[in-house]
Amino acid sequence: MLIDKYSRRFNYLRLSITESCNFRCNYCLPNGPDCTTRKHELTLPEIRRVVTAFAMAGTKKVRITGGEPSLRKDLTEIIRTCKSVPGIEQVALTTNGYRLERDLDEWMEAGLDAVNVSADSLNEGTFQMITGDSRLPSILRGIDKAVERGLKSVKINAVLLRDYNASELPEFLEYLRDRNVALRFIELMQTGDNRAYYKRNHVSGQSVKEHLLDNGWQQTIRPITAGPAQEFSHPDYAGRMGLIMPYSKDFCDDCNRLRVSSRGQLFMCLFAEQHNDFRSYLQADNPEALIEHLQQVLQGKAESHYLHEEFTGSTRHLAMIGG
Ligand code: SAM
Ligand code: SF4
Repeated sequence: MLIDKYSRRFNYLRLSITESCNFRCNYCLPNGPDCTTRKHELTLPEIRRVVTAFAMAGTKKVRITGGEPSLRKDLTEIIRTCKSVPGIEQVALTTNGYRLERDLDEWMEAGLDAVNVSADSLNEGTFQMITGDSRLPSILRGIDKAVERGLKSVKINAVLLRDYNASELPEFLEYLRDRNVALRFIELMQTGDNRAYYKRNHVSGQSVKEHLLDNGWQQTIRPITAGPAQEFSHPDYAGRMGLIMPYSKDFCDDCNRLRVSSRGQLFMCLFAEQHNDFRSYLQADNPEALIEHLQQVLQGKAESHYLHEEFTGSTRHLAMIGG
């Protein structure tokens, strides 16, 4: 089992498979991806070796992320590979949804269990202002298709943004009335590149929480291992609301996730200063050596992030590692 010196157990791997993206979300990659070459991305055999080592050390869930993971032509094979590793019970995908409608069936056939789709607005104009992309209708059809096909978990992520979607809570709630999806508002996080944007657009999730509690929504009790989202349900709504508030006290106490970049680096925290390059361990099947290495490196994992002090580590934007 991978355990750090604060006795946190890590059974959840977030695996980035590309840093590239076709959207220009204004809080993430307003000018597009840093580099157009994709030749450094982990290969399928390297991905199998990463996931095998993590699974042997107790990981049960893998989330594939990016950049935009569906830019990789071998995404279906990556899903299949992750799902076939003994010990992996759940394979999830975080995506901007632009290939969801088209490719969902083959991803599910390959073993996909869960999808998180980013949709920061349900209004086409606002969505385009935030992401630079006009495919919201197809993304929403993809989400409905995922629900109809019976994917075990369908979640929508929306980053809370003062100038763009902070007034859209009523529309988001209406959307949930008849849809069995979980919509999660994520508080905007400061990264190396978005300082001025963050100052202008960060809104605390607390006001959303108060609105929900004042309007008949009830906070659900979730197991400590369920991740950092606070969840709310309402008898008149098929869907659930969630809040991810990384600036709230004790956010890091139950951290159960480790992140691997598309270049084979271990990110112990989204906001760490340094990352550990372990790619050399992926050139042959030797999971024991990799596990020993990871366990050693993990002892350097900090107790919490220092975002409150505006310390964003070396993370310039979340497309580097996948959120
Ligand atoms: N491209 C995929 C997507 O957008 O879903 C996966 C990668 S993206 C970095 C993962 C998640 O991080 C998205 O839901 C995105 O909205 C969120 N994100 C990106 N930058 C963020 C920031 N500065 N603060 C909070 N969430 C952010
Ligand atoms: Fe791309 Fe996701 Fe970043 Fe948007 S949030 S620019 S879709 S990586």
